Amino acid sequence: MARQLGDSHRRFLQSMMSISVMDEQEARALYQHCCDVHKAQCAPDKLDDFIDTINAKLQPMFMQIRKGMSEDNGFQYYVLVNMAETDVTRMSSDYADNELELFRKTIDLIVSSENGKVCSTDVLNIADTLTTKKLKKSEAEQVLNRLVQDKWINEKRGEFSLSTRCIIEMEPYIRRMYEDQVKVCHICHNIALQCQICDSPTCGIKIHNPCVARYFKGRVEPHCPSCDQFWPHEIPEFRRPRSQSRR
Ligand SMILES: [Zn+2]
Ligand SMILES: [Zn+2]
Repeated sequence: MARQLGDSHRRFLQSMMSISVMDEQEARALYQHCCDVHKAQCAPDKLDDFIDTINAKLQPMFMQIRKGMSEDNGFQYYVLVNMAETDVTRMSSDYADNELELFRKTIDLIVSSENGKVCSTDVLNIADTLTTKKLKKSEAEQVLNRLVQDKWINEKRGEFSLSTRCIIEMEPYIRRMYEDQVKVCHICHNIALQCQICDSPTCGIKIHNPCVARYFKGRVEPHCPSCDQFWPHEIPEFRRPRSQSRR
């Protein structure tokens, strides 16, 4: 049976277009709301099928609602992705060339860092090395604020990391651009920026912090799932996604 796009799907897509990223709980609430408004059937476990129906119609327009994990809290998020442009050029309607260059170089620093973070001083220092057009420090600060507001990067205690939206949307670009540097998480196989690393020099696997929490939960003595060496890092507390904790 061909899956038809109904009014509930259209309403969901409209909200997705204006919000651009939402967590699983928000997506579930929106799904319920759209079905209620248009008196469509709503099965709590059918959100991904509902989204697949929308995605089938979005495909000819090179768009997709993509699901991915937040490196911060381990929750699932949904992002409306433009697949026609795979790198930061997708942002060229909102950002000038030198602003995009600053963003690219910020991504360089974050991807090549140990912990997926870069301090603001290091980013501001590259502002006057831009080849397109140099930025003053104050201008660079404004660009960074906008990138945070537009949900491309996160800022915490003077450090920047790539946002969930950015990682979900730009994963293919990051994998291609940083083929030699970027590693995937040993547990979930998505690219790993903010993560823990196995100390053993012959191993060195990476695991996202939330994946560490989930994997080692309840284990008395944590060992690397690849080389079996003792896992020396602090195990973060496992946080159950809100959508699951409600029931
Ligand atoms: Zn992971
Ligand atoms: Zn190891």
